[in-house]
Amino acid sequence: MTLTAYPSIEIIIGGRRIGPQNRPSRDVINPATGAVLAQQPAVTAEELITAVETSQAAFLQWKDRSALDRSGILRRMAEYLRRDEQSIAQNLTQDMGKPLAEALAEVRSAADYMDWHAEEGRRVYGRIIPARLAGVQQVVTREPVGVCLAIAPWNFPLSQSIRKVANALAAGCTVILKGASETPSSIMVIANLLEEAGLPAGCLNILWGDSAMISETLLAHPDVKKISFTGSVPVGKHLAALAGRHMKRATMELGGHAPVLVFDDVDAEAVARTLALGKLRNAGQVCISPTRFYVQDKAYDRFMPALVDAFEKIKVGNGLDAGTQMGPLCHAGRVAAMEGLIADARQNGANVATGGQRIGNEGFFYAPTIVETPDDRIALMQEEPFGPIAVVSRFSTPEQALARANGLPFGLASYVFTNSLERADMAAAQLQAGMVSINHFGLALAETPFGGINDSGYGSEGGMESFDGYLNTKFVSRQSRPVR
Ligand code: NAD
Repeated sequence: MTLTAYPSIEIIIGGRRIGPQNRPSRDVINPATGAVLAQQPAVTAEELITAVETSQAAFLQWKDRSALDRSGILRRMAEYLRRDEQSIAQNLTQDMGKPLAEALAEVRSAADYMDWHAEEGRRVYGRIIPARLAGVQQVVTREPVGVCLAIAPWNFPLSQSIRKVANALAAGCTVILKGASETPSSIMVIANLLEEAGLPAGCLNILWGDSAMISETLLAHPDVKKISFTGSVPVGKHLAALAGRHMKRATMELGGHAPVLVFDDVDAEAVARTLALGKLRNAGQVCISPTRFYVQDKAYDRFMPALVDAFEKIKVGNGLDAGTQMGPLCHAGRVAAMEGLIADARQNGANVATGGQRIGNEGFFYAPTIVETPDDRIALMQEEPFGPIAVVSRFSTPEQALARANGLPFGLASYVFTNSLERADMAAAQLQAGMVSINHFGLALAETPFGGINDSGYGSEGGMESFDGYLNTKFVSRQSRPVR
């Protein structure tokens, strides 16, 4: 395969591009090979202030462009994503590690998000409330909040960032985007294609560098009105507190530890095969990854061998190689995290049914792993693994399964497999989570709400609810008769 060139990684402020020359920078690493792909420059404290100033100046123009006009630019961007999908996907695989087919799916999903937000931005309606007095008109309008800080993770570097950028721009806001430092190619794609699509300078500024300095400086700035963050629970709690201190709006898309209830009325082997593919997508580095598998007694002995068999058949390798079904983990820290969780499981008597070790010494590969445990005491049942590990446990009654599923502070995704409508409805009603998917993986579409409760955060990305995070509500009451 002939690879397209990996893009230059730049800071972009008000249309000015700043490369890694003559300033601190860090290496961007290919997690499959350890090769250095590019240098990433770090922003200075002074440049952060310029970033806000250019973003605010751009906002004053952008908010007054018509919704149709803004939509046109975003739709062009979606076309360009589809036009360039092969080269974008190759670079995404190179810095993130996921198989090329998954990277291509992510590019297509990002284009879909762009299109949907472009259209939905044309439907930001107000309303008229019937007045109590003759001659009075009561009007509710929605106004863009202003400059938004968007911080995105590395697991879906393109689609997670696009959700924020598309939503903010379609609502009439401007965006300062800090992507994850591990996976910058997608962020450059967003900036380059939006520029080509006609987005005015300053509407999207791109920053790299010291995350803490960036969030602390920007959230304290009076012209930054909102933060949208996707990432881990600890960082999310820190940023939510920071946003609260400065009374900034916040959308928090944080971690999860999705329970999966497999009832004994299903075809246990077929469900195991489906779950294996869902679990190992993106090497399990998915916030809504099915993770804690609670399997009912009578299905357990058919489910387990089928799951082990499916995990052992997964072809692990460089995401650019044909046939690869699972790539490396995104960075060395993830391998260390898997090793820590497996050591804890072994020490506490859990059974590692397959996997349980890294693969090779080059890159950050870890084997698809299944751990069996009788209860929820091991760390794997408490902490989000964010890697290719499934942890499986038996249950007898639905009440026991639901209590264990609801036993953690997370509340993002949850899954149920059953052929009983009654059980499906009961589980959907009682699972404490922002999203429930029954008998398939039906989450994360542009038109459907996506978000968690409890420690998994608040606010929604996707679905008509997502615009609420980028709009202020204004009420205007007008008496048409002159005051005498
Ligand atoms: P992370 O919290 O370590 O980092 C996320 C982003 O925040 C990165 O861009 C990072 O550079 C930045 N960051 C870190 N500290 C910061 C600070 N003090 N100020 C500003 N920015 C800071 O998470 P990660 O390891 O990149 O991603 C994995 C986590 O993200 C998992 O917990 C996963 O479940 C979660 N996630 C959630 C969703 C969702 O929609 N709910 C989606 C994807 C990932």
